[in-house]
Amino acid sequence: MNIHEYQGKAILKSFGVRVQEGIVADSVEQAVEAAKKMKEDYGSDWVVIKAQIHAGGRGKGGGVKLAKNLEEVKERATNILGMQLITPQTGPEGKLVSKVLVAQDVYYPGESETKEFYISVLLDRAKGRNIIMYSTEGGMDIEEVAHSTPERIHKEEIDPKVGLQGFQARKIAFNLGLSGDAFKDMVKFITALYKAYDATDSSQFEINPVLKTSDNKILAVDAKVNLDDNALFRHPDYAAMRDVAEEDPMEVEASKSNLNFVKLDGNVGCMVNGAGLAMATMDIIKIAGGEPANFLDVGGTANAETVKAAFNIILKDPNVKAILINIFGGIVRCDRVAQGVIDAYHEIGNIPVPIIVRLQGTNAVEAKKLIDDSGLKVYSAILLKEAAERVKEVLAL
Ligand code: GDP
Ligand code: MN
Repeated sequence: MNIHEYQGKAILKSFGVRVQEGIVADSVEQAVEAAKKMKEDYGSDWVVIKAQIHAGGRGKGGGVKLAKNLEEVKERATNILGMQLITPQTGPEGKLVSKVLVAQDVYYPGESETKEFYISVLLDRAKGRNIIMYSTEGGMDIEEVAHSTPERIHKEEIDPKVGLQGFQARKIAFNLGLSGDAFKDMVKFITALYKAYDATDSSQFEINPVLKTSDNKILAVDAKVNLDDNALFRHPDYAAMRDVAEEDPMEVEASKSNLNFVKLDGNVGCMVNGAGLAMATMDIIKIAGGEPANFLDVGGTANAETVKAAFNIILKDPNVKAILINIFGGIVRCDRVAQGVIDAYHEIGNIPVPIIVRLQGTNAVEAKKLIDDSGLKVYSAILLKEAAERVKEVLAL
């Protein structure tokens, strides 16, 4: 689960990671009040107005702006709140900004230069270990750095038996070219950051930039925090940070019914039990000349309720021209699923697109008979090949 920058920073701060402070606001008036409060707390008129959306590259898209007085705060907040922010990560339609973070300006001049670094903590699945990835080339497009100067990106592997070791944090601070107070503060920063990553069951922390201020403090200017969905039950306070407005509405509804659903761009909706079978089904749809409109794994209990919920979600997609139901009846008997399909069909009423049902396994023959006798606009198949041919036929109609 992704969360907003301001939420990610709150989590980091609770683990002792220093962050660029800020106050979140969802109206221009609140933004102005926040800027006044920031001045009381930090003594500067200068604040940064930062759009809160679940996508990076906001700076490039015009979603991060410096304001030097209250007039400018008002102007910037007016422009950013309500804007459809387009960044390299949002897609061409952009994302609606409904909150801004009024943040402390941390790029103030001082005894030394400010420096931007890149630090992320993530799971390296191939190694089966967490790693800390870091670079002196922070603030800019890290993908570009990885592409053109990969030698500037370093990785430190964490041994799960002992966790992050002191010498590793010192090595990172050293490789980032720091010394003196900044070096010490970076060691503290990395230690706290790793602890936060571990304790929150996160799957990714990406801090870009990590800033060395002109008075040699290290802090997180940005925070991209991804929490592991499967561990959210251990963190109800983080689960409450979910912002469904940032998610695909169809996927939100599917997750309410415990369906594993991913929206795709094609024209054939599919409903399958088991992720592997769902992948294979998407392949046969493609072979038949269609494109899958979604990935949908109904899980182990394909009863009338789940089938109905799945139908309702698939039918929200106007691109869907046919639905392929592909269920392997093992513990769940095919005739039960068939009855579920028929019941769901009756309950929903008129389903405007043809449905191809392929049931294989326990009681497959009985299931086919139920479907064939139902009088509904449902085509049955037992072999995958037959199902694919049916898909081809109905798409040609
Ligand atoms: P992103 O573009 O979505 O990654 O958003 P960031 O939070 O990383 O901010 C983008 C850029 O805005 C940073 O790389 C900085 O250059 C700039 N920025 C962020 N905070 C400040 C600040 O306090 N003062 C100034 N002058 N610039 C800032
Ligand atoms: Mn950033």
